[in-house]
Amino acid sequence: MEIFRTINGLRGCVQAWRQTGAKVGFVPTMGFLHDGHLSLVRRAQSHADRCVVSIFVNPTQFGQAADLDAYPRNEARDLDMLEAQGVDAVFIPEVNEIYAPGDETIVETTRLANILHGQVRPGHYRGVASVVTRLFNIVQPDVAVFGEKDYQQLQVIRRMVRDLHMPIEIIGGPTVREADGLAMSSRNVRLTDADRAAAVVLSRALDAAEAVATTGGTVESIRAVIQDTIDAEPRATLTGLDTVHHSDLTEMSGSLGAPLAVMISAQFSDILLIDQRVIQP
Ligand code: AMP
Repeated sequence: MEIFRTINGLRGCVQAWRQTGAKVGFVPTMGFLHDGHLSLVRRAQSHADRCVVSIFVNPTQFGQAADLDAYPRNEARDLDMLEAQGVDAVFIPEVNEIYAPGDETIVETTRLANILHGQVRPGHYRGVASVVTRLFNIVQPDVAVFGEKDYQQLQVIRRMVRDLHMPIEIIGGPTVREADGLAMSSRNVRLTDADRAAAVVLSRALDAAEAVATTGGTVESIRAVIQDTIDAEPRATLTGLDTVHHSDLTEMSGSLGAPLAVMISAQFSDILLIDQRVIQP
């Protein structure tokens, strides 16, 4: 496995692969890897001949400096995990490599970035689109894989790639969970024991929503059961509950006429967790 910290180094490697006709897959991450990330790597490997993973904690997608500073990191462990997974190259740039002094170009999906979770975290999806564009231009993959867990992010990326005519196939990967149902996240290690135990309420709320839907429940009744389930957990504060069309993320109401994306975010002490499920009509 090759490790690159510069754009030139990584580009040289990918160009050499291309000359042999290899198809290149890419998984962008912020590191502190878990099985969810590795499932995306396996998906990339099954769609491409070579796999690049980036590890970059992107400052422009964090609203608060404290959240950025507290983001967990463990480069040595990440590299061991990626090597064991058979990754071909890892790109670990410094902030100055991605954002050169004087950098001022932003990329924004103007509607998708500013609705739903984008209202809870202003500027977040602009930061995501801006860094993923830079990474795509550096790696120039044929295929890139993103988790469905960050459902709005996946839709932002799909729309950006479509609008900017980027020749990259975007593939979504299902959410990988802990044994009790909590969606794996690099942030989970920052939860206190009590909050970690309480956080299972997110997946329980989604299970309850699915149960309501299978008995013909409306969007309103799905929202009510999620609200009630989370309200019953005193350690959780619901900060976002979005029930939207699965692809364009417009609000839905009444009986389910199309797949419904349910996206929830909740605060446990100072940690914001998200979870999501697409419920079929
Ligand atoms: P992050 O390192 O949090 O930026 O995540 C990197 C990629 O991994 C994103 O595409 C995420 O959606 C995805 N991801 C994060 N957690 C999970 C999970 N539990 N299951 C599947 N994919 C995930």
